[in-house]
Amino acid sequence: MSLGPTLGGTRIFPYKSFDEALTDVLRLSRGMTYKSAIVEGGTGGAKSVIIADPKKDKTPELLKAFGEAVHRMQGNYVCAEDIGCTVDDVAIIRASTKYVVGLKHPKSSGNPSPFTAYGVFRAIQATMQELDGTDSLEGKTIAVQGTGSVGTELLSYLFWAGAKLIISDIDEEKLEGLARKYGAKIVSTHEILYVPCDILAPCALGGIINQNSIPKLNCRAIVGAANNQLHEDEDGNRLAKREILYAPDFLVNAGGLINVISEVAPDGYDATAARAKVGSIYHQVRSIFELAKKNNTTTNEAATTLVEYRLKHGIGKRIEPFHFHHE
Ligand code: NAD
Repeated sequence: MSLGPTLGGTRIFPYKSFDEALTDVLRLSRGMTYKSAIVEGGTGGAKSVIIADPKKDKTPELLKAFGEAVHRMQGNYVCAEDIGCTVDDVAIIRASTKYVVGLKHPKSSGNPSPFTAYGVFRAIQATMQELDGTDSLEGKTIAVQGTGSVGTELLSYLFWAGAKLIISDIDEEKLEGLARKYGAKIVSTHEILYVPCDILAPCALGGIINQNSIPKLNCRAIVGAANNQLHEDEDGNRLAKREILYAPDFLVNAGGLINVISEVAPDGYDATAARAKVGSIYHQVRSIFELAKKNNTTTNEAATTLVEYRLKHGIGKRIEPFHFHHE
């Protein structure tokens, strides 16, 4: 059962084949379904992909044609920015359809990344509470893989909360400035997963937690923004055997989605309300840890089972339609 009209970003990527694009869009939309269900966002999960090279093939005609396709779905699918599709591109899509969110518009919710980062920060606090009985990050070591939009915002929260930071990115230029600003230690992209730390925060790629990396991890917990961090479900068991606590990614990184959903509320976007809702990721992470202990299962399994129960019984289903205030 779907929990509401579907919402999710549009990825523009030069997939090698239609099948590759289909596999990716199904994997991504499944992730969106889980993300929305676990935070009771009242939306169905969706993503769209355009098979094109965003550097060469992206034209206003292509984006407008895509907008027409979105419009034909009459609001059952609402699109937003994603990899290869910028907020400016979404503004062009907007010319063909009102079914878009995350615009540079006074009534829109804007950039989701700061909210995603805040949700990750709250999830890290919840995880510290589980590990050490305190939310305090004072003196705790946190390794952040990827200092892009989310990773950079996250560093700021962690720094001011007193954490010791270790960072890595393939883009070495930006690391120097961040290291100076936040007193962070830079390590190579090969080392970051394996440095001794309290919390590893993957904020770059999916699939990095797998049967090869798990035996070498040197962290007490994994809490980060990247989608699909576990290569396969069995990795949840592998982490549990190593007593590494895993905060499920689709809950941890739901802050951006929560923010964008608040844009279609009847009274319009309210940043303060969105912040409060994103902050409650703290309590939701704590609940998942409790549920896993109660059911003697992994945290990933506990979160997945909860989502599947909600989907089956329509728990959190949207009653109020989407309102598009940027019309
Ligand atoms: P981004 O593209 O801005 O940043 C990703 C960063 O990772 C880049 O700086 C890139 O250079 C770096 N990187 C790539 N490969 C790396 C490697 N091997 N080692 C270290 N660094 C590497 O993306 P983002 O918006 O910050 O998102 C980060 C992750 O969080 C992505 O997986 C994204 O899907 C996920 N996510 C983002 C949001 C959001 O609101 N932006 C919401 C939910 C999930």
